[in-house]
Amino acid sequence: MKCLLVEDDQALARELSQALCDGDWLVEHAESGQKADFLVRTETYDTLILDVGLPDGDGTRWLASWRDDGIDLPVLILTARERWADKAAGFTAGADDYVTKPFESAEVLFRLRALVRRSHGHAHPVLKVGELSLDTHTQHVTLAGRPVGLTAQETRLLGYLMHAAPRVVSRSELAEHVYDRDQEPDSNVIDVQISRLRRKLGAWRFATLRGQGYRLLADEPDGQ
Ligand code: CA
Repeated sequence: MKCLLVEDDQALARELSQALCDGDWLVEHAESGQKADFLVRTETYDTLILDVGLPDGDGTRWLASWRDDGIDLPVLILTARERWADKAAGFTAGADDYVTKPFESAEVLFRLRALVRRSHGHAHPVLKVGELSLDTHTQHVTLAGRPVGLTAQETRLLGYLMHAAPRVVSRSELAEHVYDRDQEPDSNVIDVQISRLRRKLGAWRFATLRGQGYRLLADEPDGQ
């Protein structure tokens, strides 16, 4: 999953980026509203952390303009402003969650995972697709109750497919959500990682729909 962190305090941005990376998130950082505005309109993210006191305007104003333009990614406001009126302004602008500084990084992570789950229509913290399960907090994957050893990248890929299931996910959508922009995965890289997942978890689970992408199946198709 990919997060855009909009924060002009460099030390805080570094600390939070590290915590997010440790939690297996891909993070991009914008230190101004303008840069964030450019990125949310040109790139794809699963969630956005928004500071309010930005050098080029109030974060809630940027947020309101994104919402007006139909940009619907989950947004968590992270700010020192703890007055009720500020919180009301944040939610009114279109925030999904609001955390005040100082904060626990772990709490921000819990909240982000819940936001992403909800955006895909899941309430339970453990996602299940057939016998496959993923604990969204620990990133622990099991198959029929047994732990499965996956790399961080494989877990990200599987996690995205599990969040999306049973929807078909195109290669370009996977590339946007599961890989760093500078990694620039070609479809071959994704195919290779899908075949590794097939080997570890069962080939039939990862259905390829020619020209459309991948779908994670809960049940083995008949006749196989
Ligand atoms: Ca600030």
